[in-house]
Amino acid sequence: MRTDLFASRHIGINEGDLQEMLKTVKAESLDQIIDETIPSDIRLAQPLQLSKAMSEHGFLSHIKALSSKNKLFKSYIGLGYHESITPSVILRNILENPGWYTAYTPYQAEIAQGRLEALLNFQTVIADLTGMELANASLLDESTAAAEAMSMLFDVRTRAQKKDNVVKFFVSEEVLPQTISLLQTRSNPLGIELVIGNHGQFEFGSDFFGALLQYPGKYGQVYDYSTFVAKAKENEIKVAVAADILSLVLLTPPGEFGADVVVGTTQRFGIPLGYGGPHAAFFATKEAYKRNIPGRIIGLTKDADGQPALRMALQTREQHIKRDKATSNICTAQVLLAVMAGMYAVYHGPKGLKYIATKVHNHAKTLHQGLLQLGFESLNTAFFDTLKINVTDSDKLRAIAEDKGINFNYIDKGTVSISIHEATDEQDLNSIFTCFAQLKDQKESLSFSEPFDEVIPIALSRKSTFLDNEVFNKYHSETELMRYIKKLERKDLSLNHSMISLGSCTMKLNAASEMLPLSWAEWGNIHPFVPLDQAQGYQEVLHELEKDLSTITGFAATSIQPNSGAQGEYTGLMVIRAYHKSQKEDHRNICLIPASAHGTNPASAVMAGMKVIVTKTDEKGNIDIVDLEEKAKLHSENLAALMVTYPSTHGVFESSIKHITKIIHDHGGQVYMDGANMNAQVGLTNPATIGADVCHLNLHKTFAIPHGGGGPGVGPICVAEQLVPFLPGNPLVKTGGSHAITAISGAPWGSSLVCLISYGYIKMLGEQGLTNSTKIAILNANYIKERLSGRFDVLYTGENGRAAHEMIIDCRPFKQNGIEVTDIAKRLMDYGFHAPTVSFPVAGTLMIEPTESESKTELDRFCDALLAIRNEIDLAVENPENNPLKNAPHTMSMLTSDDWAFPYSRQEAAFPLPYVSDNKFWPTVRRVDDAYGDRNLICSCTPIEAYIESE
Ligand SMILES: *Cc1c(COP(=O)(O)O)cnc(C)c1O
Repeated sequence: MRTDLFASRHIGINEGDLQEMLKTVKAESLDQIIDETIPSDIRLAQPLQLSKAMSEHGFLSHIKALSSKNKLFKSYIGLGYHESITPSVILRNILENPGWYTAYTPYQAEIAQGRLEALLNFQTVIADLTGMELANASLLDESTAAAEAMSMLFDVRTRAQKKDNVVKFFVSEEVLPQTISLLQTRSNPLGIELVIGNHGQFEFGSDFFGALLQYPGKYGQVYDYSTFVAKAKENEIKVAVAADILSLVLLTPPGEFGADVVVGTTQRFGIPLGYGGPHAAFFATKEAYKRNIPGRIIGLTKDADGQPALRMALQTREQHIKRDKATSNICTAQVLLAVMAGMYAVYHGPKGLKYIATKVHNHAKTLHQGLLQLGFESLNTAFFDTLKINVTDSDKLRAIAEDKGINFNYIDKGTVSISIHEATDEQDLNSIFTCFAQLKDQKESLSFSEPFDEVIPIALSRKSTFLDNEVFNKYHSETELMRYIKKLERKDLSLNHSMISLGSCTMKLNAASEMLPLSWAEWGNIHPFVPLDQAQGYQEVLHELEKDLSTITGFAATSIQPNSGAQGEYTGLMVIRAYHKSQKEDHRNICLIPASAHGTNPASAVMAGMKVIVTKTDEKGNIDIVDLEEKAKLHSENLAALMVTYPSTHGVFESSIKHITKIIHDHGGQVYMDGANMNAQVGLTNPATIGADVCHLNLHKTFAIPHGGGGPGVGPICVAEQLVPFLPGNPLVKTGGSHAITAISGAPWGSSLVCLISYGYIKMLGEQGLTNSTKIAILNANYIKERLSGRFDVLYTGENGRAAHEMIIDCRPFKQNGIEVTDIAKRLMDYGFHAPTVSFPVAGTLMIEPTESESKTELDRFCDALLAIRNEIDLAVENPENNPLKNAPHTMSMLTSDDWAFPYSRQEAAFPLPYVSDNKFWPTVRRVDDAYGDRNLICSCTPIEAYIESE
């Protein structure tokens, strides 16, 4: 075995396994399987033109060398991004720990109580600091969170109340520029009219449904918004406030002056800058809007024994249920980063946070006083951490500062702002001060002379307490926090325990060598708005990644700005929209979507201002071409796009795909391909070949970024030539096409830090490793299909009876025995496995996707488990209400209880197959009660004790 070949570590199947598996699937060779699976007319003629595979060791040297091309300046740029200190205990035990980063979104609550608790902590931190009633478990970034606030307020005021003339949204000019750009993107297709202006001069018209304010303002001024909010209330205008989370430790929280929604980022709670992301944004609001909140909320419920248990509450699968009626397309969010930010608050507690905020504030005051003494004019009358200074010649200051390795925010010729952060120390203050002294040709140094006058008005200084719960007041030593993190980690089943065969989600290996560079300061500590010459390492990685993704998809260009798959969908459709507009065909607004599509597809189409027409699926699970053609013809005049997933969500390479894309083109539409299933294509076929014009990729599926328990994600779009000019831009840093649409994410290159993972993945696998990964992913799925055959029905296959990289098994027939698909999902936990995807795209089924990273041994264990469960299903007829499936999962406390009232043994319950006892995973709660949790929504820490008492 070649130990320097990464492919042999990434792919779980070795040569010996391969021969055995080929026998099982009745094929002579791997290529025969592929030929029988992928239609010949869409196979690539040439191998992908990618650079030669690097060894892991070689990659680490390469990425180290690139990292030194990033210049580690001290950045005081602010604008929503601040250097912060990641506590080492959190870095090592969460960010660098596969137990945390390889987990999936916690849909299977019984084996996810750890991250659910961590997210509940996050929600509590947010609700407490913002002064709001409830918060969700993270959004993508501050700018998208602000856009979500705008859409939610539009929905509750204008759409729900049918006030068609109330379409204006006021945006203060103090709002961050990248947020304003994003609001421009999002408002237009929804028919919202943005009015940007000075909040002090705003006239509260009856045609406004909402307003957005920034607190403190973009250059640091702390405004008293209470009069504004009161007047807005009188006029039925709802107010959203984008707030700086650390400032809320010292400032009156927006909830206390009447805000309806508070959004922002938690980046400065211990998350690396990472050249723009990923970071967890927050969204907090009033109880009254709990059913309208975008994203996921963690809530408390009880399990089968009446014990408290956590779960995702309410609109858990919002888009899947609401589809084109959904008001948000958020699916993947930023769970790993929310877990880290919540843990930062657990570690520091209210007293630690106060210390940090006060230190930052005092440093800003010291600098302020020093600059006044030097004779500079300060333009902020009240501030928390950011000074706005009149300098007359900012170019000269810039030259001086850059020479010393310092970045300020140069607002215009005569003004700069300086944002102090957690990592700023007295030496840094002196360096900043020296720049300004030099600007005046003086040689002073800063004197630290406390006390100073207060610069936060009494009315705006926080009086209420926060984080009073126990969890924020007991884990302040490293030993205690390390053990708390471990305690939570042990409750969760991640890829470091067993295979997670979630169809459509591609839970493959997230290799350690791909992850290591994320911890390095040269990648972590770069502000997204630094001059390009300070981020050359990043520029090389990001451009090379974009180039490779274009090669893989066969397209002309790529934008990595969108930070989730659903954001990619939205971006792709907005780019299509811009293209039609450029052709003077603005009227094209019909989007055809097959019935089997992922729920984010219709949700994204509606957000992009399109009208969704659903097309039928035939009995074989393929697109019904007659129906498609009819609808394309009927809407020919206004056809904007088709959204199609390939291979289909049914796990099949439809052989008529080229015909389908041609029909759309013939009627003037563009073809959008949902690339979630790209793991079945890489190196063998591609979206350009099937006739698509644009696709998104989920780098957190196909390209090895870990799921992080529900994020981060990266959802780049790759586009054909005619769409290149419209790729999204950024108001502060040039990126995107020549006629770029406005921003999709706050940062120019989205979640740059985690793009290193996909870059490493491609560079270490190379053309052959990537293509082999695809082949083995397809082999593994067909192997499982063969092993289960006769006992489970596979719903759909291709023309030669092969599955693609995933398959759907039908569990509906088991209803005869009283067994539901959920019972099987929960029973798998007793066998040590996470359930496959439940009830998508077909209700009552499981969708299994093994990926290439699993070994034959693991695939066999998984099949053994499913086959054993199948026997249990047969036996369940005898006692449909009381059997191992209905009672699953079984907890340790059930097993060790003195009472055992079940008609099967404890052994059968918890150790149903021999392999289980060697590596037992214990679900920590019994089956959770979903309906109870939704009826009694409790989604922050405080009431837990109250809840337990009342039980
Ligand atoms: C995962 C997935 C999406 C959404 O991607 P996110 O990153 O979660 O937003 C869209 N379509 C399909 C088919 C998917 O599997």
